[in-house]
Amino acid sequence: MIMTEQIAEREQARLAALYEVSSQLGKTLDLGEVLNQVMDAIIQLAGAERGFLMLYDEVSGKLTTRAARNLDQNTIDGDAMNISRTVIERAIATGEGILTSNAQEDERFSAQTSVVGYQLRSIMCSPLKVRGRTLGAVYVDNRLFSGVFSQEDLDLLVAFANQAAMAIENARLFVQTDQALARRVEELSLFQRIDQQLNKSLELNRVLGLSLNWAIALTNADGGSIGLIETVKESETEEKYLRLLVYRGSDQSNEARVVPFDHPVLRDVLAANESVLTVGVSAEESIDGTPANVQLAVPIRQDGRPIGLITLETQHAHEIDREDVAFVERLADRAAVAIKNARLYEEIHAANKAKSEFVSLVAHELRVPMTSIKGYTDLMNSGMAGPLSDMQKEFLTVIQRNLERMSSLIRDLSDINRIASGRMKFDFQDFALQTIADDVLGSLRERIEARNQTLVVEIPEGLTAVHADPTRIAQVLANLVSNANKYTPDGGQITVRVEQRERFTAVTVQDNGIGISAEDQAQLFTQFFRSEDQLVREQQGWGLGLSIVRKMVEAQNGEISFASELGKGSTFTFTIPLANIEA
Ligand code: ADP
Repeated sequence: MIMTEQIAEREQARLAALYEVSSQLGKTLDLGEVLNQVMDAIIQLAGAERGFLMLYDEVSGKLTTRAARNLDQNTIDGDAMNISRTVIERAIATGEGILTSNAQEDERFSAQTSVVGYQLRSIMCSPLKVRGRTLGAVYVDNRLFSGVFSQEDLDLLVAFANQAAMAIENARLFVQTDQALARRVEELSLFQRIDQQLNKSLELNRVLGLSLNWAIALTNADGGSIGLIETVKESETEEKYLRLLVYRGSDQSNEARVVPFDHPVLRDVLAANESVLTVGVSAEESIDGTPANVQLAVPIRQDGRPIGLITLETQHAHEIDREDVAFVERLADRAAVAIKNARLYEEIHAANKAKSEFVSLVAHELRVPMTSIKGYTDLMNSGMAGPLSDMQKEFLTVIQRNLERMSSLIRDLSDINRIASGRMKFDFQDFALQTIADDVLGSLRERIEARNQTLVVEIPEGLTAVHADPTRIAQVLANLVSNANKYTPDGGQITVRVEQRERFTAVTVQDNGIGISAEDQAQLFTQFFRSEDQLVREQQGWGLGLSIVRKMVEAQNGEISFASELGKGSTFTFTIPLANIEA
């Protein structure tokens, strides 16, 4: 009776201890800390003298000591460990706990030569298992006394080992996901940098150079190359080859090289449409003719089809691993996008240049005959070709009006062309705005009077000179006043106001005309935009004036703004820097 009570009491105490140490586990996910806790708990639970814990190394797969108590490094590294290892290996192999009260007499171990010498007596060992997988084992012993551990002690150890294994596994998984996440974050931020660089560059060779540099730097390769597939059509036949555009390495050269399509590496990559890693590459096999220890060839794909190739080479034993390959593949995807952009940009650039040249040519070719038409019309008008009937005079006026329309279109197109191509010249100088305003308003007075519009001019005396090209400023002002004149009904009012501010002079052209709807306002200043409004369409125009005005104002370091309300009128204001003020 007393015996069973005692046993029950002891059992309870053990369970309490087990509960106590187990509840401490799992509070941390730090692997080192978990291992230490496990080790302390085991020594405490078993009342052992010494102990250690071994885990299979995740990389090498070898059993390694990860925590120990009261064992010095010499012991861990020394021959004395042989017996302990034998016990551990046995526990792992059988998947069960091992208890021996006198190892030297235990037939399972006494055959070991070292047992005798090292006086190992009481030993307990339990495998660390989680979900059927063995992580390693824990081991405790007592050298001096035999019969220290009982079967209950072993049961307790095994029970605890199960809990410990779970905590170790959790901590390991946590480290793994943590590391994987850190790697992913690092890679993402790296690719963000690469993308930034690639997207900033619209020059094809620069894009290729950047991609290759990153690939070499991040795989530690000795050198490499990047090339694009090109097709040459010669009469009937179509020939494809790889044009190596940039390469780095021992044999650095800047001249482009041509690799035939039947080159073994190119053939392999194109056939597989996947990366190819070749070991021991001969000069013939090497894409740039230099033999290499390892060569990685990664296709650059657009819409799934290879359009180019990145190759990387190393001469040393250094390996290009799976992660490197995956990295270069992702880099190649980004390079593909940047290459596409650079090519598009080149095409647009070329198309723009062609358009600009075409417009120049047409403008020039039209000007010559128009000058001739104008000359003869003037001659006829002056009566040099004989007296004119009223009808003939009227016809000549129509011809002249249409000539004026044509030449204004040619002038506008040439201006746009010159601004777009950066060929518009500005003759910057300090000048008085008053003179320019007088000239412009003088030349438009007739048109304003023709519509019975009132012109109000508010230009204060003693203005500081402005710094710009007077001819271009006149053109801007003329354009705005001409619009006010066109888009204000007969009898309306046009106000031209000049106000001097601290650093610039503001010129405002205001009318109480037809105004501009909110919808149209959004498109103002774009080339060829004209409102659909009947009142606008009645007036002659090409929709080029405002876009030229804005570009000219901005090119002279000014700004243009407007306010308008449909049916009420419009106000356009532009600024010109004052003389002696830094732009
Ligand atoms: P255009 O006068 O040759 O049509 P602009 O580029 O000068 O070309 O003007 C573009 C369009 O902006 C005009 O067609 C008209 O719809 C609108 N617009 C410009 N100025 C005014 C204004 N003062 N009042 C009302 N609408 C205007």
